[in-house]
Amino acid sequence: MSLHVITPLLESDAYSRPGQRVWLKMEALQPTGSFKLRGVGHACEVLAARGARRLLSSSGGNAGLAVAYAGRRLGLPVTVVVPETTLDRPKALIGRQGAEVVVSGRSWTEANEHLSSLRQPTDAVVHPFDDPLLWDGHASMIDEVAAQGPKPDAVVLAVGGGGLMCGVLQGLAAHGWHDVPVVAVETEGAASLAAAVAAGRPVPLAAITSIATSLGARQVSDRAYAWTREHPVHSVVVTDAEAVRACLDFADDHRVIVEPACGAALAVAVQRPLPVLREAEDLLVVVCGGVGATHAQLVSWAG
Ligand SMILES: *Cc1c(COP(=O)(O)O)cnc(C)c1O
Repeated sequence: MSLHVITPLLESDAYSRPGQRVWLKMEALQPTGSFKLRGVGHACEVLAARGARRLLSSSGGNAGLAVAYAGRRLGLPVTVVVPETTLDRPKALIGRQGAEVVVSGRSWTEANEHLSSLRQPTDAVVHPFDDPLLWDGHASMIDEVAAQGPKPDAVVLAVGGGGLMCGVLQGLAAHGWHDVPVVAVETEGAASLAAAVAAGRPVPLAAITSIATSLGARQVSDRAYAWTREHPVHSVVVTDAEAVRACLDFADDHRVIVEPACGAALAVAVQRPLPVLREAEDLLVVVCGGVGATHAQLVSWAG
């Protein structure tokens, strides 16, 4: 059994051009609206098999929603601790899955401390991006791509803490696709991978100032940084405005709403700012999705 679904791999008429086909891996169509369900679903199944009696998460975003969904499907209670700053809509979406939502603390750090204080020996904490179980689950995306379409000449994806990137790179390696460059996209104000590449090691950002909150990990995982030394990875940073514009265009072209976190990758797929993007005959874009933005919100961000 797996909790995620096989998503379509669509050849995009809107993005393709003569000499280049653009393939969209439609993770926005997962039951929880993002790729997170692959890794989180797999991790929760393994943790349940190892005897976990309750699942805990400190994410008020797509990771917390995926844990809530996985817990419901597995018949395990879920508690999600979120800071006071979390908006009503994500709390309602998580609550609708039957999870208990506890509001505690002014920031994620304080919410996470409260989560640790709640933890019982039979509880399992599900991390949003830094766990090999998550990467194993995310890697299934590339198994599907290999079965659904041609070998890509480059892959574009968004990076927050780097869980998606670790899973995709693991999947590429498993298929022997060591030569396929990965273009890792972040927004200004959430560019923790770009900071790590510049510093030569993962370093914390002083603050997250991007509206792409799903990319807002202050520091990328060690494994995500290590991949940049083992595989061709190109770090690219776009503005919030570019990400939002790409979301609105994507909604018009493909009739699907995604968060600016995903729009960042879409913007790069459209702008093709690197030779590896312009030269690729088959370009794979991970449409990672996200439920954190409505169409009205995207319009208001676009100003
Ligand atoms: C979590 C998330 C990301 C970033 O994923 P990481 O594994 O943290 O790098 C990007 N887009 C969406 C929609 C997400 O939910």
